[in-house]
Amino acid sequence: MAISEWNIGYSVLSEPLRAWKIGDAGECIHFYGGFHGDEPEGVQLALTLKEYLLNNPDQFLQKTLIIVPIANPDGFKNKTRVNANKVDLNRNFPTKDWAKDWTSKAGQPKYYPGPKPGSEPEVQAIVDLIEKSRPRKIISFHSLNPHQINYDGPARELAHAMAKHNSYPITEDIGYPTPGSLGNYAGREKKIAVITYELPEKISPTQAWRESLEAILEAIQF
Ligand SMILES: [Zn+2]
Repeated sequence: MAISEWNIGYSVLSEPLRAWKIGDAGECIHFYGGFHGDEPEGVQLALTLKEYLLNNPDQFLQKTLIIVPIANPDGFKNKTRVNANKVDLNRNFPTKDWAKDWTSKAGQPKYYPGPKPGSEPEVQAIVDLIEKSRPRKIISFHSLNPHQINYDGPARELAHAMAKHNSYPITEDIGYPTPGSLGNYAGREKKIAVITYELPEKISPTQAWRESLEAILEAIQF
């Protein structure tokens, strides 16, 4: 079973975006944590998942699993949603709907989409990874009140299969527009099944893992 580890790119402040790959057969699935640096719940879940995958590679012989636990290392270090350029990475993807007027909650710096689509090095690294490895599913860990399994692209059934294991509410629309999001880029435009997995805010790493492992394993096998 092949396991590899590399940097897919670097943040604005030159921190590496570390990636791990488990296996190299069958369909490719991506996992991300920490797009928003002030959501440590998702980073913790991604790091725990990474250890689990590395310790149990034989469970995933027919898959190619790629995990980037900290997509926004500068934001994570500084406990900010945005990256070091004050850009919301989940609004910076080069989508058709990318908008510089910062979504309908216009003027809120927390959603600043950057000076142009795909301007940020973290987003460029992830776009490049998606282009090169062509995943069929993407699962991105965040935290939000209310917690939910949000989906974009051809992921409705996947979302329902995951929710059977933890009864998280399923949503297609998170309740406000998200131009330039990973879900719009990969899900709606590239037709990849994208799950934005919103953990409850402040959930402990132990509880998050307990509520999520079966749902994640279901997503891998689904
Ligand atoms: Zn988030």
